[in-house]
Amino acid sequence: MEKILNYINGELVAPTNGNYLDNYNPSNGEVYSLIPDSEKQDIDNAVVAAKEAFKGWSKTPKQKRSDILMKLADTIEKYSDELIKAESKDNGKPETLAAHVDIPRAPANIRFFAGAILHDSSEMHEMDGMAINYTLRQPIGVAACISPWNLPLYLLTWKIAPALAAGNTVVAKPSEVTPMTAYILSKICIEAGLPKGVLNIVHGLGSKTGDPLTTHPDTPIVSFTGGTVTGKHIATVTAPMFKKLSLELGGKNPNIIFSDADFDKSVSMAARAAFTNQGQICLCGSRLFVQEEIYDKFRDALVTKTSKLKLGDPKDTTSNLGAVVSKDHMEKILAKIELARTLGGNILIGGEREILEGELKDGYYVQPTIIEGLSSDCDINQEEIFGPVVSLIPFKTEEEVVEMANSTKYGLSASIFTENISKAHRVAANIDSGIVWINTWLLRDLRIPFGGMKHSGVGREGGFKSLQFFTEPKNVCVKI
Ligand code: NDP
Repeated sequence: MEKILNYINGELVAPTNGNYLDNYNPSNGEVYSLIPDSEKQDIDNAVVAAKEAFKGWSKTPKQKRSDILMKLADTIEKYSDELIKAESKDNGKPETLAAHVDIPRAPANIRFFAGAILHDSSEMHEMDGMAINYTLRQPIGVAACISPWNLPLYLLTWKIAPALAAGNTVVAKPSEVTPMTAYILSKICIEAGLPKGVLNIVHGLGSKTGDPLTTHPDTPIVSFTGGTVTGKHIATVTAPMFKKLSLELGGKNPNIIFSDADFDKSVSMAARAAFTNQGQICLCGSRLFVQEEIYDKFRDALVTKTSKLKLGDPKDTTSNLGAVVSKDHMEKILAKIELARTLGGNILIGGEREILEGELKDGYYVQPTIIEGLSSDCDINQEEIFGPVVSLIPFKTEEEVVEMANSTKYGLSASIFTENISKAHRVAANIDSGIVWINTWLLRDLRIPFGGMKHSGVGREGGFKSLQFFTEPKNVCVKI
């Protein structure tokens, strides 16, 4: 069975303790490879390598860093087919989704920041002829980059690209649940000639590798994407060390459909927002508020649309949904659906594990599920489920829906569907979230400030915000 290896100081190495964990294929429930069960020693080795590499990489001219990263992006693209299949096998997502979203985004992320670093500028403050202040933006050191399992290579590269472009070196810890594309990336880095130690990837459990990485005295900068509970833990352990911290966390995003919305477009978008990637995207619209006048018609159209979605083999190009990421996660989602029933929710469609035939019978498939009849303040409408589950809630007025939309502890994203431009802008301004889409969902421009408020995160990444996060501003005052 294939053994995944850590990538430290430019080499593929086994975990120092020699221990491995099982890696499952969610589409059939089988163990198909082994993941290093790394620990503090491996993290220490990676940080030593990254710290040494920082001496050269931070002084490498921007154009050269950019060229190296562009070559890395080209090499990733060369292995697109392998990466698409690997991402789907490791995560359970349809290959078509990996082909259209996950894998193309990896080189796009790297090219974007390799270009951005050449076009960045810093500030100057002139003091009435007396003095000039200018701001140097300097790389900081070894960045700890921790990423989740839902968009494995996409989110890993979203962190390492700006960190490296800005002149930092990186120790990355991908989710132990989906390590494969990060491992392939390690091999690609070697082929592309990334200088040794610039990027290091250590696989293993959050507690055994994540903690030593975030609390390491030589990782002054931590970029984390994952769940709110883990984010809180990382904030707690890093705060006394005064680390620079970026947290991209969970969401319970409202999708608001006003009665004057373009009906067909909003039904399609609502289905996409609920079920893409089996509902395992932090930006998924899992609370669907529909104005009373169109509620019945909208609900029926959404159920019809959902009934046409094909849940099946991730390799089948006609599958709209594949498996959820793990048995544990499937059980969590099914327990939430059971809780919805107990609370009096009406399951309009779905609500069960789907057992596929033949070789895929032990895979982790959950039917796309629509629930109605639950109050906005119940657990199902307040806590993240992170699965193919959407809850429908009717509303009467704009004021009422804004209040319900803002009632959770989260504040990541929101979508508003209306043809009334004034109402759209007014509601966008009144929603507590870092991102608002009007008449669309998940339309991403890599330049925008990306992130959430309240328990959805701290700080923003994206575009120059990422380069600012991964650099330290230093003001220099020159007396004239
Ligand atoms: P987790 O918080 O469980 O894990 C995220 C990463 O943190 C994993 O690599 C995990 O490792 C690691 N980790 C776990 N414990 C620690 C620790 N003590 N110290 C350091 N690292 C640790 O999230 P999931 O992987 O379950 O991802 C799903 C969550 O991510 C959802 O809540 C989703 O909303 C959120 N998310 C947010 C996004 C955003 O941009 N705001 C984007 C995508 C997802 P391991 O897997 O080995 O436990």
